[in-house]
Amino acid sequence: SHEQGPIKIANPERAQHVKPEEQLERVNATFVTLARNSDIGDLAGTIKQIEDRFNSRYKYDWVFLNDKEFDSNFKRIATRLVSGRARFGKIPSSQWSFPSHVDVEKAANVRAEMKEQKIIYGDSISYRHMCRYQSGFFFQHPLMMEYEYYWRVEPSAEFYCDIPFDPFRIMVEEKKKYGFVISLLEYETTVPTLWNTTKTFFKQHPEHLAKDNSMDFISDDGGYSYNLCHFWSNFEIASLEWLRSPAYTAYFEALDQAGGFFYERWGDAPIHSLAAALMLRRDEIHFFNEIGYYHAPFTHCPTGKMKDELRCYCESKENFDWKGYSCTSKWFDFMGREKPDGYEDE
Ligand code: GDP
Ligand code: MN
Repeated sequence: SHEQGPIKIANPERAQHVKPEEQLERVNATFVTLARNSDIGDLAGTIKQIEDRFNSRYKYDWVFLNDKEFDSNFKRIATRLVSGRARFGKIPSSQWSFPSHVDVEKAANVRAEMKEQKIIYGDSISYRHMCRYQSGFFFQHPLMMEYEYYWRVEPSAEFYCDIPFDPFRIMVEEKKKYGFVISLLEYETTVPTLWNTTKTFFKQHPEHLAKDNSMDFISDDGGYSYNLCHFWSNFEIASLEWLRSPAYTAYFEALDQAGGFFYERWGDAPIHSLAAALMLRRDEIHFFNEIGYYHAPFTHCPTGKMKDELRCYCESKENFDWKGYSCTSKWFDFMGREKPDGYEDE
């Protein structure tokens, strides 16, 4: 089994001798990528890395979602690269547009102001639809309804190491609901009222607050304020059934009604993270230390013996985990864990 503390690698010798055509047993899970047709170039290399490092032995499906129809070029390249079934879904326009309760003029004024303030994606409408879709809808897509777990992948992400074990199986066997590799601080200007909205929700629904939650990871003053720590959601391995639960559904609904996707620029990362921190037990959240990962501009690079065993090619000095803007140190302290072997390596 896969324990906290010293990381055990599931038989790396064997992984090197596995023939690509050998089929290992899967759990009920899928990769999922939200993308535009123009993203296929940046996505192709990412898919190839995941296939070479992991999925060619398992052949998990891969669901691609888009607010427009995928074109034949996208479908041809994705189908060629994915060893499992490549499946293509269109997002209903009702889930990629302003909900009727949102004042579009007020939202336009916010975008103009955020543009002045040079807030990243502050002036973008599509980015807001994307964040809202990732927060509240992707797990309800008919193609996603068949699965219990997902692994989210974004264009241009890199996977630096072998993955000689099945992360989905860890989720199942260790009863994990949310897995991450990078955590960091959010830009305060994108979420000024998210915490108060969240607090109001939990005051009205104390039944959704988990026992043994991770409040002390996301707040430094016992829940009075948000410390901006969140899991970086461009990488996620998590439970779809959790996101489809009445608790998460009610939380998303309350946030959507508050309008912060459009009157501010709430990201799906802090939303998934606050939900995970408050609605899950801390032992249902998993740090996938073994998965070497890059999404601009941050790297998670395994250290010590593990880095050799997993044939990683990232640079240890790029590892973001213990740097000032990361929250992973706080996560380790909160969980009472020792930092991994070789964490101070350059
Ligand atoms: P960042 O990582 O926050 O800089 O944002 P990205 O540009 O990577 O967008 C996050 C994810 O949503 C990626 O998988 C993108 O391909 C996808 N995405 C972003 N905007 C759109 C859009 O307008 N349409 C579609 N279909 N996908 C989008
Ligand atoms: Mn991205």
